[in-house]
Amino acid sequence: MTQGQNLPRSTLLLVDPDSKRQASLLSMFKQVYHVEMAADGKDGFDALMESDIDLIVASASLPDINIVNFCLDTKQNPLTEHIPIIVLAEQPHAEQECRCLAHGAVDYVNANTLPDIIRFRIRNQMHGIEQQKVLELVSITDGLTGLANRMQLDTVLHKEWHAAIRGGHPISLMMIDIDHFKNFNDEFGHIQGDECLKQVASAISQSKARKEDFAARYGGEEFVLLLPFTHLSGAKKVATQLMANIRRLAIPAAPSSNSQHVTVSVGIATISPASEHHRQLSPLTLLNLADKNLFAAKRSGRNKVCANEEQLPKVDS
Ligand code: GH3
Ligand code: MG
Ligand code: MG
Repeated sequence: MTQGQNLPRSTLLLVDPDSKRQASLLSMFKQVYHVEMAADGKDGFDALMESDIDLIVASASLPDINIVNFCLDTKQNPLTEHIPIIVLAEQPHAEQECRCLAHGAVDYVNANTLPDIIRFRIRNQMHGIEQQKVLELVSITDGLTGLANRMQLDTVLHKEWHAAIRGGHPISLMMIDIDHFKNFNDEFGHIQGDECLKQVASAISQSKARKEDFAARYGGEEFVLLLPFTHLSGAKKVATQLMANIRRLAIPAAPSSNSQHVTVSVGIATISPASEHHRQLSPLTLLNLADKNLFAAKRSGRNKVCANEEQLPKVDS
């Protein structure tokens, strides 16, 4: 699957006091994965807290913790419970194997077997993990434009909303809708319509001013640009940039739309969820308010940005 190529490199964590084996596994995998190394259980847990680990390969002979407890601790922590563990056993023992597998290990491999057997076992596990990541990515991505889909927007919006409450900062959201898009489809056809959607999505994506800014396809010819930590004045600047980016596309509009080029209308909403006046509001309010303002932009002639500040109690900015 081509989208797999867009995934960042997977990360393998080797938890092993045997530095020779660490070096040998590192040389096997350093070309394909990002490899982190830890010499004991404590260092292993530290690495798990600091990095985004996809797969753990742990020696059954850790100096500071019994391997079964290592598996248990990893599985009982909500931050690490999803990470598969392969146990490498210097002295394989059926009872230990059974307990490791019962407590979350996905495989138990004889450390003295052929290096290639260890290599293939690790590679096969990672292959399954990567396939799973591709499926997850596909499920939160809009297939046509490559932007985030509505499902991912909901997740990110809730996360940023709660971050705004904790951090006491404002959050802005822009709802963007292509003008007279039905005419465009009717007059140029759906294939051309799809091409237009892709170009507009790319222009929206290029309007992001910060790494936290987040673009999504809301549905049909509607898009959302979420701007965490952003006051209304900042959101208006982003909207100005966005309108310029759309103009630069210069996509010929449908003759019936009375416009030379394809345009968009934009509704902006800004809320400070931590402020006393906005505390009772929800992420849904932000979406609804932006939608209302989008409607106002349409009503006032399209190709406009509308941000009605009077619809919410004023807060100091
Ligand atoms: P307004 O200026 O008020 O927004 O009018 P509009 O014509 O843009 O809005 P309307 O809701 O009437 O039409 C939206 C059109 O978007 C209709 C639908 O066929 C088209 N559309 C939605 N999703 C897709 C898609 O994935 N591909 C294509 N080609 N068209 C789509
Ligand atoms: Mg629409
Ligand atoms: Mg439209």
